[in-house]
Amino acid sequence: MLIVMETGVTDDRVASVVRAIEEKGLKAHPIPGSLRTAIGITGNQGPLDPAEFEMLPGVAQAIPVTQPFKLVSREVKREDTVIEVSGRKIGGDAFCVIAGPCAVESERQTIEVAKRVKAAGAHFLRGGAFKPRTSPYSFQGLGAEGLELLSRARKETGLPIVTEALDTDTVDLVAEHADVIQIGARNMQNFSLLRKVGRTRRPVMLKRGMSATIDELLMSAEYIAAEGNYSIFLCERGVRTFSNHTRNTLDLSAVPAVKRLSHLPMIVDPSHGTGKRDQVTPLARAAAAVGADGIMVEVHDQPERALSDGPQALYPDQFDALMKDIKAIASLVGRTI
Ligand code: PEP
Ligand code: MN
Repeated sequence: MLIVMETGVTDDRVASVVRAIEEKGLKAHPIPGSLRTAIGITGNQGPLDPAEFEMLPGVAQAIPVTQPFKLVSREVKREDTVIEVSGRKIGGDAFCVIAGPCAVESERQTIEVAKRVKAAGAHFLRGGAFKPRTSPYSFQGLGAEGLELLSRARKETGLPIVTEALDTDTVDLVAEHADVIQIGARNMQNFSLLRKVGRTRRPVMLKRGMSATIDELLMSAEYIAAEGNYSIFLCERGVRTFSNHTRNTLDLSAVPAVKRLSHLPMIVDPSHGTGKRDQVTPLARAAAAVGADGIMVEVHDQPERALSDGPQALYPDQFDALMKDIKAIASLVGRTI
């Protein structure tokens, strides 16, 4: 159910409607907007009666939400969500670039790559300290030490950090160091992990599962929002198909599809989406053209020595060139970098 408040309603009126919702054992999610304030209701097992809410002072309308996802749907919030992290914007007319190595490997590598991507104009540094690897014998990441190195890189460059939380045990530790918590493709439907990051107040980047539909992706985002964390953006990173000329098939149509259904920002990861260095730049350009809110790109100063995902890592010079292309395309589609 979505409660739409009268225009110009006072904060007290909103607060008393929130109280009335909570007294019914339900959860209220106030959604301020430039034209109207709304309140999303979750926690009901069956349908609610709009009349029960429409009689409350200050309420203009109570509308049942038809989509299975509520808080993240455009039905509930028409305006695009814009997330602000350390003065950088994700969503709206901003185009955000997240870049860095797949994994944090050493202080030298992390700081070197951070400096290079910063100089090229990236807005965030990425790097995994806890890595989800297909093989248990592959490099699993430096863990807590990796998080410390990311914090050092932030201090050195001023770039905010995007890094993955792999399990519920390490969410709090990751949240201490990260500016944005990444939920990886393999964990998109790890519901206890989604709930846990939903209880932090750190922005969350939720990656699409490798065989997830758009509805499933949005339902996973709903798990985070239902806990009260509304700073969520999505990331298309390719899905599994029969094609073998790429690691995954980057589904750029997900961007307009998501934008029709949801107000959440969506970025594109052409690195995991293709797995091949020579395909990263063309698909990053396409992501900017298709209306994505940003890209996440893996960059390594020595890809041939990388401990994970070397074949898809751009050399810093290639990233410099990519940034020039992206700036030109973004401005054509009305975005500022
Ligand atoms: C990553 O971004 O480091 C990563 C592991 O990606 P994904 O979860 O999309 O495979
Ligand atoms: Mn990777």
